[in-house]
Amino acid sequence: MNKLIIAIDGPAASGKSTAAKLLAQKLGYVYLDTGAMYRACALAAKRTGISMDDEGALVELMKDIQLEISFTASENQIFLACEDVSAEIRKPEISMLASSISRLKIVRERMVELQRRMGKEGGVILDGRDIGTVVFPDAELKFFLEAPVELRAQRRYQELLSKGQSAIYDEVISEMKQRDLQDSSRALAPLVAAEDAIIIDTADYGIDALAEELYRHYTQRIEGQKSIRLAPYSGFCFGVRRALQLALDAAKEYGKIYTLGELIHNPQVVEEMANKGVIAAKDTAALQEAIVVIRSHGISKEQLEQLSAGNNTIIDATCPYVKRTHELIQKANEEGYPVIILGDPRHPEVIGIKSYGDENTTLYEPGQELPALLGKKYCVISQTTQKLENLEALVNMLLPLCNDLKIYNSICLATRQRQNASEALAQESDLMIIVGGKNSSNTKMLANLCRKYCECLHIETEDELEESLFKNKWRIGIAAGASTPENRIIAVYNKILKINGSTRFASKLDDIPLFKEESC
Ligand code: C5P
Repeated sequence: MNKLIIAIDGPAASGKSTAAKLLAQKLGYVYLDTGAMYRACALAAKRTGISMDDEGALVELMKDIQLEISFTASENQIFLACEDVSAEIRKPEISMLASSISRLKIVRERMVELQRRMGKEGGVILDGRDIGTVVFPDAELKFFLEAPVELRAQRRYQELLSKGQSAIYDEVISEMKQRDLQDSSRALAPLVAAEDAIIIDTADYGIDALAEELYRHYTQRIEGQKSIRLAPYSGFCFGVRRALQLALDAAKEYGKIYTLGELIHNPQVVEEMANKGVIAAKDTAALQEAIVVIRSHGISKEQLEQLSAGNNTIIDATCPYVKRTHELIQKANEEGYPVIILGDPRHPEVIGIKSYGDENTTLYEPGQELPALLGKKYCVISQTTQKLENLEALVNMLLPLCNDLKIYNSICLATRQRQNASEALAQESDLMIIVGGKNSSNTKMLANLCRKYCECLHIETEDELEESLFKNKWRIGIAAGASTPENRIIAVYNKILKINGSTRFASKLDDIPLFKEESC
C-alpha cells in the first residue's frame, strides 16, 4: 500500500504535535515537527545576537546554518552545529522569535526545501503552518486543527508548569494572540487552512479521541484509494460489433470494400479498418459497382436508391434498433401521425430516420424551442442513443399541446443500460474518464451525463492521460461509448494504473473491476 504524506497545520497548541505523534505510531509513519526547525533558526540568531530586523545578517546566518533533525514516530531531536538543542528551543522566548524569523524568504526557502526532502517518500506526518498549502500542496491527506485561543493558551500554560517552568496565564495568552496574528498575516506562507484540508476544532476532543478521529479520516481515504472501476455495458454494443464483423468478413472475401461515411465514430478503429481494406467513402457519387457496407447508423432512403442505381453490392449492417425506427416512422405516417424526431439533426442516424418519414416530419434537438405544431396529433420517435431525460422533456412539452400523442421509446436498451450504469458510477467517483471518439454522439452524451456528478474527461486514447489529472482523485470511474473497442478500454485502464504506481496490469476486459450497483 502506498504510504501517504499527511499534513497537519494549525495555530500554536491546537493539538497538532500530540495528535500527529499518536497517529504516526499507529500507522508506523514518522513524524516531522517543522515548527522545531524555525525555532532552531531563531535560537541560532539569538545566540549570535542578530536582531530579527537585521535582514542582511539573518540572510548570512541562514547561508551557513548547520541544522539537522532526527525524527521517528514519537520523537524529534534537533541539532544546531551538532549540538542537541531540542530542549532549549522550547523556551517561551523562542516561540515569538521563531514566528518573527519565519517571515523571511530565505528562512522559508531553506526550511521548505529540507522538509520536502525529508518527506517526499511518504509515510510521514508533518505538522506546521504551511504544510498543506506550500510544503506539500499535493499531500494526500490534510488536516487543519484549531481551537479557541483561551483553550490553547490554557494548554500551553499547563504544559509550561508541568515542565517546571514559571508562567503567567495572561502573558501566555497575549503572546499567543500576537503570534497567531503575526503567523496568519505575514505575506509568505501565512497560517491558513488549505482548501482541501479537513478542519477539526480540537476543543471537542480529548487527545485519544482526536487521534482516533484523524485515523478515521485516514482509513476512509485509504479505502477509497485507487478504486478504478469500469461502468458495466461499456464499449461495443451489439449493433456496432455486428457492423464491424460484417465489414471485416466482406473485406476478407472481396479485398477492398467501402462504407458510406466512417463505419463507426471512432478515428482509431476507422484507421485500423482502413488497413484491412475497409475504406470510408464520403458520398454515394464515388461508389459504382463496389461492395458497400451500410454502417450501423443506417443511411437515408435516397442514398440507398443512389447506391442501387450505381450497381453496388450492398451489405446492410444497419443496427436493428435503427432499422426499427425506419419502420416505426413509416407506420406512424400510415396511421396519420406527423412525427417529431428527437435527436441531433446533423447525425447520420437522424438524417436516415427522417428520410423514411413524410414531408410533415419535424426534427427536435434537445434544449431547443419546440417548433410550431401542425395539429394536436403527433408521434415522437427518438434517435436510439438519446438520453431518456431528453425524451421525457420533449414529451412533457408536447402533452399539454396534443390530444393524441403516440410515443415510441426507441432509445436502445444497450444505450439506456450504459447511461444508467455510467451515471451511477459517476455519483460514486471523483473523476470519470469517458473513452470514445470525440465525434461519437453517444460517447459525448455519456460525458455530459457524468459531468453532472464529478469531474469528467472525454478522451479518445490513453495518451491524453497525465499524472496531474489524478492528484487527489481517489475514486476513478471509466465508461466507454458504444463505438469504443475493448483494447482501448484496457489500454486506458492500464495507463491509469501505471500513473497511480501499479505494476500489475489488465490483459482482458474481465480483469477490470466492474462497478456494481443495483440500479445498473
Ligand atoms: O509549531 P511551533 O509553535 O513550534 O512553531 C513556531 C513558529 O514557527 C510558528 O509560530 C510559526 O511562525 C513558525 N512556523 C512556520 N511554518 C511552519 C511551522 C512553524 O512558519 N511550517
